[in-house]
Amino acid sequence: MTRITVAKGDGIGPEIMDATLSILQAAGAQLEIDEIEVGEKVYLAGNTSGIAPEAWDIIRRNKIFLKAPITTPQGGGYKSLNVTTRKFLGLYSNVRPCRSLHPFVKTKHPVMDIVIIRENEEDLYAGIEHQQTDEVVQCLKLISRPGCEKIIRYAFEYARQQKRKKVTCFTKDNIMKQTDGLFHKVFDEIAAEYPEIQNEHWIIDIGAAKMADSPELFDVIVMPNLYGDVLSDVAAQITGSVGLAGSANIGESCAMFEAIHGSAPRVAGQDRANPSGLLQGAIMMLSHIGQTEIAAKIQNAWLRTIEDGIHTYDIYREGISKQKVGTRAFAEAVIANLGQQPQQFQPASYAEAAPLQLPKYQRKQAAAKKLEGVDLFVHWSGTSADELAQLLQPLQTKEVGLSMITNRGIKVWPNGFEETFCTDHWRCRFKPTNGTPMQKEDIIELLRKATENQIDTIKTENLYSFNGTAAFSLGQGQ
Ligand code: NAD
Repeated sequence: MTRITVAKGDGIGPEIMDATLSILQAAGAQLEIDEIEVGEKVYLAGNTSGIAPEAWDIIRRNKIFLKAPITTPQGGGYKSLNVTTRKFLGLYSNVRPCRSLHPFVKTKHPVMDIVIIRENEEDLYAGIEHQQTDEVVQCLKLISRPGCEKIIRYAFEYARQQKRKKVTCFTKDNIMKQTDGLFHKVFDEIAAEYPEIQNEHWIIDIGAAKMADSPELFDVIVMPNLYGDVLSDVAAQITGSVGLAGSANIGESCAMFEAIHGSAPRVAGQDRANPSGLLQGAIMMLSHIGQTEIAAKIQNAWLRTIEDGIHTYDIYREGISKQKVGTRAFAEAVIANLGQQPQQFQPASYAEAAPLQLPKYQRKQAAAKKLEGVDLFVHWSGTSADELAQLLQPLQTKEVGLSMITNRGIKVWPNGFEETFCTDHWRCRFKPTNGTPMQKEDIIELLRKATENQIDTIKTENLYSFNGTAAFSLGQGQ
């Protein structure tokens, strides 16, 4: 018997959760359930995180959380509970299997069986944003080595366990050489430890286009958070409906299971929504907690129901489907099929679906880190970079000089182009001029002089080399 936490959520949440739980119960799942309230009601009662502190205690005690979709009210400083839950509980891995159910569910891609493994905690979803000038806001994209190692190792271990043949990595490291560059580098390092599994890397733009056009070319795909968020919806949708896919959020001690879709408020309360996405999440949960036979039994009954042509409105097609049903009737059809095997699809077997035991991240030996310069970001509403360079002259010392100015990353001084459009946000790079190593005191001195000369410094970013390799971007065009 496993004690789990359940949240019925908002919109279609309660209907699809009731349907899912009725199937789990009929199949003999050994579960004790603690229900908690999360989502809209909690938000609107004035709790901006959408969850009460007591509910956290229950989630942390039970460790396994089955969650229906929730509605995050727009504006008003409401924080997404999904993002908070993933990060608070360290659920670093988001696993989203997307498989087509041809010929029973209409899809342009009859051969498609992809698993998207999305990094779940960092990247632009660190949610660190600032407005810095009248014209410019920024969002910090944070990628860490532990974050990359954990998710990429998870992808390869998953591929090995599930007997999948290939792991593909998507990044945009031709542009983001430090952040996506690290993800790609760690992918190459870890891939080398799994010689029996093919590996490949695609630049995300062409990779995504290929995935949408020829998904049969892919197997497991691992990617940073934002790309994974977007592309897992694309992958689910092109199998036939977003209503079909489930998602597992896995951490070292806790795990959360859900549907990939949202609360679909327009369909709510009408007994129409497809419970399959949440059911798929629940099946992943059962195999995660070791109830693999029950998981397989439910999956086979579900596949059989889809084969029988008993379909909810989102996948119902004249000529393919046999009977259009609502949420409850669909669940009843799955229950009636418990014990049956699918006749055309490969029956599911979850014999080897135990939670993956990954090694704990080992911190590497610190590299030799050297300060090579500093970028002063300046709010200035002039338009000529030459004029700004003049204004910055008094900041220079014998040891430290202005080496470059960029605007939105593109070099505008020295030798900028008149055609380059400039905002009021300037990056002014100072570096040692005579080979003397740069010190933190030089930065303090630069800032002091900037204030003295009415230069509005909005932030500084130190430039470092690690083991002799410069670890900061050049100006575009530099
Ligand atoms: P959505 O996924 O809720 O719905 C988009 C459309 O997809 C719906 O209008 C419906 O036509 C269809 N659809 C989705 N699930 C379906 C199902 N099970 N059966 C049949 N049709 C289904 O996306 P949205 O409308 O952008 O978001 C609605 C709300 O859900 C928002 O408040 C959003 O913040 C929230 N949301 C929550 C989660 C989550 O809790 N994990 C995820 C995404 C969105």
